[in-house]
Amino acid sequence: MRGLTMSLLRPAEAELDMPVDLAPAEAPMRLALQSAEQAGRSGEVPVGAVVVVRGQVVAVAHNQRECLNDPTAHAEIIAMRAAAAALGSWRLVDADLYVTMEPCPMCAGAVVNARVRRLFYGCDDPKAGAVRTLFRLLDDARLNHQVEVFPGVLAAESSALLKSFFMRLRRPAADLRVAQR
Ligand SMILES: [Zn+2]
Repeated sequence: MRGLTMSLLRPAEAELDMPVDLAPAEAPMRLALQSAEQAGRSGEVPVGAVVVVRGQVVAVAHNQRECLNDPTAHAEIIAMRAAAAALGSWRLVDADLYVTMEPCPMCAGAVVNARVRRLFYGCDDPKAGAVRTLFRLLDDARLNHQVEVFPGVLAAESSALLKSFFMRLRRPAADLRVAQR
């Protein structure tokens, strides 16, 4: 599994080879996954997000682009808006964002603007990933804020959810392909 070793290392400690225990990140990520499942059931691409501040879950959201007819209604944006409203501040300096898939350029930009402390995400997004895959917006020194990034938290679950969603969309051709594997 590519990237597993790196995903277990804190960026700042990578040289020291100090593994980081990502197990505590799994509980909030499971919450994000549940929210993503809910999105899938309502016909939305299943992506979920959770904001945690000092050990407290302050927002849970999922993608709602279709039902709101809103191109900005990604899980991360909705979760950060809810968190900012709950905290009474747009500065999410003590916030950790958990999202089931690597954020796109829009969401990564919002994560920087919100001054989020740490981002944990599930699977990579080869088509729009702006944290590691296509761009690296969260650790670009030219921007005024950098975010600690922890990729690969429950990545297999996140990507299985997305795959089964798109497979259902493409049935029956997809069923046939799976049967032939
Ligand atoms: Zn996004």
